[in-house]
Parts: sequence; structure tokens; C-alpha cells
Amino acid sequence: YLDQTTEVKPLFIQVYNDFKMLHDDFVINFDDDIRDGSIVKIYRNHLEQVLVILLDNAFKYSADRKEISLSASTNSEVLEIAVQDYGLGIAKNDVKRIFNRFYRVDKARSRKRGGNGLGLSIAKRLIEIYHGTLEVESVVGSGTVFRIELPLLQDTEEANDSEEKAKSRSKKKKTEAK
Ligand code: ATP
Repeated sequence: YLDQTTEVKPLFIQVYNDFKMLHDDFVINFDDDIRDGSIVKIYRNHLEQVLVILLDNAFKYSADRKEISLSASTNSEVLEIAVQDYGLGIAKNDVKRIFNRFYRVDKARSRKRGGNGLGLSIAKRLIEIYHGTLEVESVVGSGTVFRIELPLLQDTEEANDSEEKAKSRSKKKKTEAK
């Protein structure tokens, strides 16, 4: 999968629409500032899985304020996605551990909400495999934001890729002709 690429805007909008449908009791602020045609260097299902993990958590660990913000933007080199909630937040000591496998902040509280403590460790590994970063900022009692950064495919890389493909195609033709 590692050399797969994904057009990010349609995926981002699809994930947003899915969650809007599933959580009609929430306000979901949506800010899409992704340049049309932006392509990220990640397999589509992997990016979708990471977004689902972060959004699931945002809904699961929201308190009375049923509001989430989902935003994304691109510059010339990277895509940044932020998933923000205004819920329980995570204490400093726990923030260090939430990406560890099976770590859950408050065992009793979390058990009620279901889960194994695996989601975030999977999300982080997936993003790092594709040379991206996944970071968190949180304030107890006010909420949490997770930020993903992923490298964009540059136009020149695309051009090189298709040049190489064209070359190997013409090589193949020549060998077939022999
Ligand atoms: P699952 O394996 O189903 O994802 P989980 O939600 O417990 O279960 P992780 O997604 O790895 O597992 O999260 C680890 C812990 O980090 C959670 O148990 C929760 O305590 C804390 N956490 C994760 N996201 C948030 C959030 N948005 N706000 C507050 N706490 C969070």
C-alpha cells in the first residue's frame, strides 16, 4: 500500500457527511480549505480509518457540549487536518501515554464508553508509516484537538512518475516487438 496516493478532498467530505448522519444530535463545524485536486501520499482506507478513530473519540469523550470541529487545509507541501472536541480533555500525565497500546485514561469511566485503548496507537502508527505526524493538545475540562500532517504529492513528482511509467511502457513495447 505504501506507494498509494489519495485525492483528499472527496474523502474528507465523505467522512464528514457520514459522521453528520450518524450524530445528528451534535453540531459539527466543518471547515474545508483543501485546494482542489490535492493528493496525499497515503492509502485511502488508511486515512479514512485514522479519521474515523479520531472522530469516534471526539464524540465518545465529549461532555454536555455536543459540538465538534473538523477542519483541513493545504499549503504547497502538506495537508493539515484538525479534529477538535470541547469535551473532557486529557491530563498532562495521560497525554504522554494515550498513544500506547491498551492505554485508557480512566479505566472505569472509559469502560462505560467502550473500547480497548487501541484506536490511537493504530492511528499514530498508520500516519507515521506515511511520514506524517499525529499530535495532540488538550486542556482538562475544555477539550482536545488532534492534528494530522501528511505530505502532499508534488506536481513534479507526479510528472516524474508518469514520465517513468511512459518510459517503461515504451520499453515494454519495444521488447514485445522483438
Ligand atoms: P478504542 O480501542 O475503541 O479506540 P479507546 O477510545 O479507549 O478505545 P484510544 O482511541 O486508543 O482507545 O484512546 C485511548 C484513551 O485516550 C481513551 O481511553 C481515552 O481515555 C483517551 N482519549 C482519546 N481521545 C480522547 C478525546 N478526544 N478526549 C478525551 N480523552 C480521549
